[in-house]
Amino acid sequence: MNDSAGMLHLLAAEPTLLPAAPLDANGETIETRRNENHTCLRCGKPATTALIADLGEHGKRWLDLCYTDFNSVRQAN
Ligand SMILES: [Zn+2]
Repeated sequence: MNDSAGMLHLLAAEPTLLPAAPLDANGETIETRRNENHTCLRCGKPATTALIADLGEHGKRWLDLCYTDFNSVRQAN
C-alpha cells in the first residue's frame, strides 16, 4: 500500500482529480469508502477495494479499484 505513487503512475491518473481522503483515515474509513459504490479508476466497473495514496504536496487521495485491477496493479508493483 506504500507503493501507491507507482500505482498512480500505472493508472496514468491525474492526482488532483482524485477525491481527497481524510488525513485521519483508518480501517473503518476505508471500509466505509468501499461500501459507497464508487467506480474503478481503470475500467469503470464497480470498485471493490479502496486504497489511500499519500501524494505529498497533493495530500492523501482515494484510489478506488475493482478486484481485477487491484490485483493487476499489485502484481505490477
Ligand atoms: Zn477495474
